[in-house]
Amino acid sequence: MAEPITQAPNSSTRVLDRATLVLNRSWVPIHVTTVRRAICLLFRDAAAVVSPSTMQTYSFAEWLDDGHTHFDAWVSASRHRIAAPDVIQLTAYNRVPAHRAPFTRRNLFARDGHTCQYCSTRFRTDELTIDHVVPRSRGGPTSWINCVVSCVSCNARKGDRTPLEARMRLMREPKCPRWSPYLGLSRRQHLPTWQAFTGRVTASS
Ligand SMILES: [Zn+2]
Repeated sequence: MAEPITQAPNSSTRVLDRATLVLNRSWVPIHVTTVRRAICLLFRDAAAVVSPSTMQTYSFAEWLDDGHTHFDAWVSASRHRIAAPDVIQLTAYNRVPAHRAPFTRRNLFARDGHTCQYCSTRFRTDELTIDHVVPRSRGGPTSWINCVVSCVSCNARKGDRTPLEARMRLMREPKCPRWSPYLGLSRRQHLPTWQAFTGRVTASS
């Protein structure tokens, strides 16, 4: 069998970047990945496709053979057209990740809703910075409880001072968010078919 995805025509590129829900072996949602990565996992038999309507699982070969006429998102690869999976299940992995969300730039922006925590204005990602509430120069750690999203202007105004010294108020006390497989994902990236596995479709932040 040929490599699954080597080159995707333009129409497929967007589909490849679409979100796919990842379940562990016990059907617990643990992650959200891209269709691109999901297809690689399927190709290596590390995962199976789950049909959200029937809960039936398919190996990669079975998934290729099946008609999937009700699917509207397709990826072209080699001689095949592959229906983009909404949900996959890992065949071996059965753990649930630790319930502390990893501290990453993307997760921090999601926690603060892309909103400057000083002026309460929502910005695009490239217009935002990370502010250390207690400045690094004073030993302030880079962590969930000492970092907030700030716009460039508020960050410059605050400078190397604490909020108290700069007379700037934080919207809320920064905390470590609860881990969620959907952390960092916007609501519009959620697929309606995930509801069968999550009970509800919510954006976390
Ligand atoms: Zn601001």
